[in-house]
Parts: sequence; structure tokens; C-alpha cells
Amino acid sequence: MPERTESDSRKLLGRLRDAMAGDVAGQARLDKITHLIATSMGCEVCSIYLFRDENTLELCATEGLKEDAVHQTRMKVGEGLVGRVAKRRQVINTPDAPQARGFRYMPETGEEIFSSFLGIPIQRLGDALGVLVVQSKMAREFSADEVYALEVVAMVLAEMTELGAFVGEGEAMSARHSHAVLVRGTVGQEGVAEGHVWLHEPRVVVSNPIADDPEREAQRLQEAVDALRVSVDQMLTMSIGDKDQQQVIEAYRMFANSKSWMRRMQEDIVQGLSAEAAVEKEQSLARARIGQSADAYLRERLSDLDDLSNRLLRILTGQGSDTGADMPSDPILVARNIGPGELLEYGRSLRGIVLEQGSVGSHAAIVARALAIPLIVHASRISTEALNGDHIMVDGEQGIVHLRPDDTVASAFRDKIAMQAAAQERYSSIRDKPAMTTCGQTIALHMNAGLMADLPSLANSGAEGVGLFRTELQFLVRNQMPKRSELSTLYARVLGAAKGKPVVFRTLDIGSDKVLPYMKPNDEPNPAMGWRAIRVGLDKPGIMRMQLQALFRAADGRSLTVMFPFIAQFDEFRAARAEVDKTLAREARLGHTLPSSLKIGAMLETPSLAFAPQKFFEEVDFLSIGGNDLKQFFFAADRENERVRKRYDTLNVSFLTFLQDIANRCIQTDTPVSFCGEDAGRPVEALCFAAIGFRTLSMRPASIGPVKSLLRRCDLNEVRDVIEAARDRGDQSVRSAMMNYIRGKY
Ligand code: PEP
Ligand code: MG
Repeated sequence: MPERTESDSRKLLGRLRDAMAGDVAGQARLDKITHLIATSMGCEVCSIYLFRDENTLELCATEGLKEDAVHQTRMKVGEGLVGRVAKRRQVINTPDAPQARGFRYMPETGEEIFSSFLGIPIQRLGDALGVLVVQSKMAREFSADEVYALEVVAMVLAEMTELGAFVGEGEAMSARHSHAVLVRGTVGQEGVAEGHVWLHEPRVVVSNPIADDPEREAQRLQEAVDALRVSVDQMLTMSIGDKDQQQVIEAYRMFANSKSWMRRMQEDIVQGLSAEAAVEKEQSLARARIGQSADAYLRERLSDLDDLSNRLLRILTGQGSDTGADMPSDPILVARNIGPGELLEYGRSLRGIVLEQGSVGSHAAIVARALAIPLIVHASRISTEALNGDHIMVDGEQGIVHLRPDDTVASAFRDKIAMQAAAQERYSSIRDKPAMTTCGQTIALHMNAGLMADLPSLANSGAEGVGLFRTELQFLVRNQMPKRSELSTLYARVLGAAKGKPVVFRTLDIGSDKVLPYMKPNDEPNPAMGWRAIRVGLDKPGIMRMQLQALFRAADGRSLTVMFPFIAQFDEFRAARAEVDKTLAREARLGHTLPSSLKIGAMLETPSLAFAPQKFFEEVDFLSIGGNDLKQFFFAADRENERVRKRYDTLNVSFLTFLQDIANRCIQTDTPVSFCGEDAGRPVEALCFAAIGFRTLSMRPASIGPVKSLLRRCDLNEVRDVIEAARDRGDQSVRSAMMNYIRGKY
């Protein structure tokens, strides 16, 4: 085998480009490429396998294997040597393939006679597209130069695949970005929506992966990196005073000045890649490593590098976030992730949101809920699959996204939308009616809120008041700590919008999953059970006092209701109340008008508080069950962890019994109690809560209609009988018995 030189690789890339440029159908192009590579590498075989679906690779072209095997030979990811390359996204280079781990004999290809095997993943920005393989009869390991040259070729193939260069008639691969795709994710906010894709950050398209003037490309790269360094320095100057942000930008600077990063890209250019393709090759490697690294610190640094590469690509291609495309009239936002502030800027113009990352408890999810926009998170690969303007349907009931759906799916989905619209009609017809059961019991339905965007729902939903105003949301969607005067104006607007309806302001509940962007996160092993909510409030009373003052001033002589989060023992409530008294006295001294009446309550979110002394129940003005937290601590199951969260049903008999005991204690002590966790907004759960003694429920505005509609059909005595019977039978959950009961009501 002759030694290969740099110019060999360049020649190969040059010929590849010619092959791509010719006016031939996709399959012919692929065939030409495998022929070119095999000849140029001096190997008997070159094959290209591409993904047919998420789990299956298909032999799409070959030089040297049996022709009949093309489009017939398929393998699962992980299966055989080719499948292993795809799965691990790593090169396999072996002189003795039949002896290598994972080898699978495929008689239809006639492959047993080939000894050496070199498999290279074809990937683009961490997105696996296929595998490029060369094989030879002579047993030998391919040299580092050869591996490198084929990696460069694979990179170009990836670019070409992305651009649809192999799309053609007959057996050729189907076009990427043109076929229907179904993506499963997790529901962040219920609802269904149909519209067209609007990419939050459109991908940079590299249309010129191969270049024939390396000097010019090297110069372009140098100029772009110089511009990048200047912009990073500017970012650094702007971030002075913000330590956390500075740390990130310092990491950017380190990469931007990294000699080895630059050297690797220069080497790729010498091999024949364009400056853009060289940057993207580095970026792809970094992304692949993000997926494989177990080290959180390393993953973060690799993400920094990813972000930096994006910036560099935008400089090189001149493609900014603004690509000149017009936002469709029915936009469904697709993004890898998005911050709450950015989402608020889009506001109610969006029909739906699909995120590749994100989580149910993320701040973006909180904002999506406030805006009542259907949201799917963890929708894998969506940001690489979707293109601006693609037809998309978001099923926020099932957690499914249909991208470019075919007609059958689209029409079934439209039936679903129509059914939802009909239900909404029904709900609005009972909006001004009370949630009165057939046995004559009225349940007060309030709404949960936290952003100004929530306020219109007060009138629209028929809520009797705001049962939980999560004040931390205002802190979470900003980049810096809000001032007291800003808060006071905001709270006054909330009270104004409520027009005399009650509003329960919960003091700041930060910590756990709610980390303020401008506060240093605490490195706690178990943040949900860590320094959070009232624990922070009492240990660092400055912010709590500031917030209380803002609330008192906003009330400006009106009545006010305040609630403390996460009270786990009586003393915490007493200490918090003492802060209220101190702040009131100070406000009076300063000559401010005090609230006409003040109610101070506690959230019951830890099982411990259910067993607090009788005196606590007598002293507290009211209680509100924070079911999200209470349930996670009752079952010891993280509310953010889908795997364990779903194991335990809210209608589990033990949990219902526990809740009923709390309701009974409140009845005995005449303590007003409400339930404000997410479960209060689920109709079946809400019905059970009403039956076991809760007379006030607070929920997302969109849940008020469905909950009211069910309550108005049911008799709480009957519901209690159903629960009792399930208990007597020893059922684990009362859900199936309840579902049977409810079916009879429709
Ligand atoms: C709860 O825990 O149920 C609750 C309402 O508070 P949050 O969801 O904000 O923690
Ligand atoms: Mg809570």
C-alpha cells in the first residue's frame, strides 16, 4: 500500500466535489463516491451505510460488495461492526475483522473474504447519519493519516447528506427534511396545536464543504477567529461585575485562543475542507463527546465550545439569527432550549413550543404554562429535523410531535383539535356558574399565577381569585434582582387586576430547581431537600423583608394575604411571622399606610407539618397544600424525575388517607385549607380532594373549566362511597374505581 500524502486527500476531495456537482440522480452519485474512495484508498471495498430510521442502518452504496445487497442489507444500531461504529460514534480500525468484537457475518454481501475493516461514523453536529466503511483483503491496520483522510471525507458526506445531495428516484435514500417524522417527548404544558415551524436559532447551512484554495480558506478562518476574539473580549468587558457570566466568557476566551483548536482546523483546511467545514468538524467532535462524557464539568466546557463554534460559523457564513425569513402566522417554536426571558418576548404569538432539551420544571416551562401554550420538552433531534416553515402538529396530551405529517395523521389530529375546541366551548358556557356538585356542595376554584402574562386569565377563566401567586417567577425571568419599587408596582398591578378578588402571595420560593440566574447556585447534593424557600428566607432575611415591604406598599391600605413556602416545623412559621410583625412596625414608623387586614398562612409541603402541634393549626391563618412537594416527600420520589414520579399515583389510597387526615385536622381547628399543587387541576384528583374535605382548590387557569365541569356532574357522597369501597377492597389506588364511577356520569 503506497504512503498517502496530504495532496492525495485533497485530490480525493476535489474528485468528490466533481462527483457531487455532476447532474446525476442520488444513487448514481453515491455509487460514484464509493468507487472514487475505494480506488483512491487502494482498497477493494468502500460502502456507505445510512440511517433508514432511528435504529436501522441500510447499505446504500458499495464498491466491492455484492451489488444485490444494496438497499437489502440492513442492521440495527449496535449490531455488527458497522452498527457498533454508529452506536458509539467511534472509529473501528482492525486488520482482522472476523475476529473483532461484534463482527457479524452477512452472507448476502460476500464480506467474509475481507480482512481489514475501517469504519468511520458519518455525523453532523452530533447527529448520526450513517457509517463509511473501507475494507481490504490484505490484513493491515489503516494508518492514522488514512483514518484522518476518511474522517474528512465522512464530514463532507455528512454535509452532503444534510443538503439532500443523495436524494433521487428509485432506491436512493429519501430526502432528509422532507419525510414525516414522529418525535416523542414529555408534556410540559397540555394542549394541542397545529402550525408551522419557527426555529428559535436557525441552523447555519454550510453549502461549500470542499474548497480548492487552502491558503484562502486558512486566511478566512484566521480573520473569522480574530473577529471572534474581539467579540469575546467585548463580552468580557460587558460582563464586569457578574462573576458567573465572566467565568463562562473566560472559558470562551480560552477556547478562542486555543492553539490546538486552531491547528486542528488548519490541518483540516490543508486536507481540502472549507473554513466552515473545518469549524463544523471540530464542533461535531465536541458534540459527540458531550453525549459520551459522564463528567458534568467537561460537558459544560464542551457546550461552551459548541456555542463558540456556532458564533464562529455565523461570522464565516454571515448567517445571523435573523435569516430574513418571515415568521409564519401560526408559529410553533422549535429550539434546543430557550430562556424564560426570550420566551416572554415571543409572548402569546406562539401556538406551541417544542424543545429538544428543557424540563417540565424549567423556567421556560413555567412561562409556557403562564401563557397557556402547549409545550413538549425532551423532543430528541427536533432542532436538527425541523426546518423553518415545516408543517408541524403538537400533541401536548400525549407528548408527541408530528413533523411534516401525512394526510391521515393530519386529519386525525384535526379531529382532536376540534374535540378540544368543543370542550372549550362547553367550559366557557359554565364559566360564570359555581362549581357546585349535585349534592349541593360548592367548591371554590382559584388559579395559580406568577407573571403579568397570567393576569388576563383571572377574568377569562372564571377563577374566584389567585390561590397561589408564585412570586419567585418575577425573580426567575430577570437577569438581575428586581428592586423593591419595581416589585411593589407589580404587586399593585396584580391586586388591581384582581378587582377585589383574593390573591395569596407566596413569598420567594427559591432553591431546589428554582435557581436565580444572578445568584450563585449552591452546590448541594440534594437541592430539593436543601437550602430552599423559607430556609433561605429566614437565614438571609434581607430579601424577605424587602419583599414584605413591597407587598405592604402595594396593598396600600387594602387587605393582603401572604403565605410562606415550605414550612416544615412550627418554629419556622413563628419566625417568619415575627419578620412580618417587625416589618409592619418599621413601615408604620416610616409613615407608610398599612394593609387594612393581613392574613398570614403556611404551605404544607412536607409530611412533618401535618403532625405539627394543635397550636400551630390554631395560630396559622390558613394552610395551603403544596401537593407537588408533599407528594415527592411522601413517596420519596423526585417530582422532576419522570422515571420515579410516575410510579406513584396521587390517588394512591395511602396518600389520600394522609390528605384526608390533614383536612380533618383543619376542620377540627377551623383552619381554612386549600390545595394548590398541580394535581388540583386534574379533574379526577380534584373530585377526590373535594370528597375528602377540601373546599378550595387552586390550579392552572386552563384547568378550571374541566374541573368545574366534572364537579357539577358528581355527588360527593357517592364519591366518598367509591373511595371507601376501594379502601375496603385493599386497592392500591382508587383511580380505576373512580374512572368507572365517572364514566356513568357522561
Ligand atoms: C407545590 O409544591 O405543590 C407548590 C404549589 O409549589 P411549587 O410547585 O412552586 O414548588
Ligand atoms: Mg412547592
